[in-house]
This record gives sequence, structure tokens and C-alpha cells, in this order.
Amino acid sequence: MKIINYSVTLLLILLSNILYSQQILIKDSRIAYAISSVDSDSLKSTILNLVSIYTRHNLSTQTDNNKGIGAASNFIKKQLDKYAKANSALSVKEYSYRAGGSGTRLLREITLKNIVAEFKGSDLTTDRTIVLLAHYDSRSFDNTDSTTFAPGANDNGSGVAALMEIARILSITPQLPVNVKLIFLSGEEHGLLGATYMASVAKREGWNINAVINNDMIGNSRSSGTEISNNTRLRVFSENIPFSESPQEKKIREYNSGENDSDSRQLARYIKEISERYVDNLEITLIYRNDRFGRGGDHTPFNREGFASVRLCEYFENYDRTHQIPGTRDGKHYGDLIEGVDIEYVKKNTQANLATLLNLAFAPEKPNSVIIDISKLSSSSQISWKDSNKGKKPFGYYILIRETHKSNWEKKIFVKGNSIDIPYSKDNYFFAIQSVSEEGNESIPQFATGGSPR
Ligand SMILES: [Zn+2]
Repeated sequence: MKIINYSVTLLLILLSNILYSQQILIKDSRIAYAISSVDSDSLKSTILNLVSIYTRHNLSTQTDNNKGIGAASNFIKKQLDKYAKANSALSVKEYSYRAGGSGTRLLREITLKNIVAEFKGSDLTTDRTIVLLAHYDSRSFDNTDSTTFAPGANDNGSGVAALMEIARILSITPQLPVNVKLIFLSGEEHGLLGATYMASVAKREGWNINAVINNDMIGNSRSSGTEISNNTRLRVFSENIPFSESPQEKKIREYNSGENDSDSRQLARYIKEISERYVDNLEITLIYRNDRFGRGGDHTPFNREGFASVRLCEYFENYDRTHQIPGTRDGKHYGDLIEGVDIEYVKKNTQANLATLLNLAFAPEKPNSVIIDISKLSSSSQISWKDSNKGKKPFGYYILIRETHKSNWEKKIFVKGNSIDIPYSKDNYFFAIQSVSEEGNESIPQFATGGSPR
């Protein structure tokens, strides 16, 4: 994508040559600094601590200090409480819920906990919230076995380590303008129980969520069977047509050909652009699926409640490690142990999360009522939009343009004012608008439509 920038106030401009064209990358020094402090030892230490708990099966003990899911939630809570002591904007909350019993995947009814690190935003004119997720429960080959060693170093020690490291860094970073919630979930391996509960809380309490980013298995870089080693690619899964779409929304989507432009897909593209701007040697690959065949993730209950929600996941999976009993059989290593986690890869993926989160937090609210004027036939397109009534006013806007058959936005044009007339036909291109801060932080794009069918 080409960035055409008419602003002279943007501070740091880095020129870089990439394969197909010259691209201008504008980096925010606050974000570059924060992601440089992501620490491999700290990530590894969180994973080793979780592995040492032996099993985090949802039906494992909650009363043993060193073993079982109770020890895991205590470990997470204690670590977060330590960060909260040094930062008054951070509070740590526990959300308990009842789960299981007859007719469910959990054989008996129990109480499980989600733990949430809540960073309060400094801008009191907005309640905008960014959410990151990672589940901390683990499982063995037999999902009813709650006592066998189930280290879950990658699934999902890697995701928990990323969120814990982000909590550490945010606790020593100046307060962000908007709310950030880092949610450590239980119940994933028995049917997304913790996420389903949390998404219902978010819906009921009317959380103004901009983005939900689920981290589940972000540390394996070697594929089983095909034996491909590669730690330079990360997948983002996002729903195509929103699960929560109403009949009226369906009509608007069909009228505007918006099948590839759900809010979740916009978020996925945003993660790609921002992560590749800040993290070296990492390519984000958009997967046009909600998740992998036959397997699910904690982002989905949030989709079902109508939130923009995606899953980050390693590009190559290792089926000898995931959900296997640790050991060596026929000369092959099995089990989800630390040996199967590529810490350098976890580090880059953590940086991708943090860069996205910070850029979004520094950006203004996204515009609304982004409308293409379709009242007359014309070879150019007139687009207008409105500012949100929440948060800081935008400094300007980016118009995003792509041909209808292209996956990612191709051109990015900076403008002031709330409308534009551009010499690109509305029939041949898709458009979206981003709000931009004075420092160049852009919001998630709002897809431009020709309104509702008459
Ligand atoms: Zn998982």
C-alpha cells in the first residue's frame, strides 16, 4: 500500500524498499520504544511457571498451591497484582462463573474464573475499550483426564505469556487515552466457556469495544509431518459474513458487496498493516475463515455477541505436540513442552499485539456514517463522513482505496475535512475512511457504503 501524506507534522519518516514498490513507513516513537521492551526471558519465565503447574485442566484441583487450575489462576492474579501495585490505572478483577454438569463436556458442575487486568483510560470523554484474550486452561489427549501432565506450553502458555508481558509493559507506560482489558480465560478446552461468559458480560454491560484480539497458540514454528520451520508468518482468522448479522444488515451488505469487509475483517487488515509497520521479519497472513476446521477459539463468542473479534495463531501447527501426552515414542517427541516453543517467535507475535493495541489506543475514534453519494452517474466518487462524538477530534483522515478483487487496501490518501471527491469510480473500487491523530495514529477503517437499498 502507498501512503500519500500531505501533512508535514508527522515526526519520523522511515523510507524502506520492499519487494514491489517503495513504501513510506511512519513510525510513532512511543510505540517503537514500547515494543523494543518486550523481553524474551520474561515470556519464557511465564511459560515455565505455567508448565510447572503440571495441569491446568478445567476439572483439576483448585485447592493445591502448586498444581491444577487453581494454582494457575493464583499465579496469574498474583503477577498482575504486583503490576497493579505500581500503577493506579490498573485494577485486577476476577469474574467467576458456573460451568459443566450433565449434558456438557465438563463431567461435573464447578466454578471457574476469568482474570481481567483493566487499564483505565485517561480520556474521560470516551469509554472506548480494546480487548486482548488468552486462555490459560490446558488439556491432555483424553479431555476427561484431569490429572495427567498437560503442560500446555504453546496451547496456550504462549498466549498467556504475551498478555502478561503486555501487562508488565503497560504498567510502566504512561496512561493510555482509552481502556484496555487483558482477559485471561478458563474453560476454553471444554467449549469456550470462559469466553462465552465474558462476551455475555461485555454485551450486557455495554462495553464499547473497538477490537477483540484472541491469542491462542502463537509459539510453534515447526510443522509436524511436513517439517517446515518458519517463524516469520502469523495467521489472523476473521469471520467473513458476521455471525451476528441481522436481516437488515444482510440487505445492506448484499447491496454494497461487503462480503469481504466485515468489522472483523477490517480489524484483521489493520493488525496486518500496523504489525508489519513495527515488527521486523513478521508477515501477517489473513485467513478468510473464522477458525480452523473442527476447532474453535475464544474470539468466536465475541463475534456472536456482535463485536469485531479475531484470532491470532501460528502459521504452522505441530500435531505431535498439541493435546498429546508428553514422552518419546518410536524416536518421536510428543507433548506440548517448552522445547516446542520458539521464544523469538512469541516475542515477535507479542510485539504485533502491542503495536496494534498502542496505535489503536492513540488513534481517534473511527468515523461514522461513511457514505458514497450514489445519486448520480459519475466517473469519480463523492464520499462524506461524520466524526464520533466521543474522544479527541481527529487531526485528519485517510481515504483507503482498493480494487474490488484485492485483499488489502492499496492506496492511502491523507485529507483534512469530512468529505472528498476522488477520481476513482465507485463501481470499480472499495473505499474506507480512517480517523488520524496529529502523530499519525489511525483508527480501524470504516467501510464506505452507498447506504441501504431502496
Ligand atoms: Zn488453545
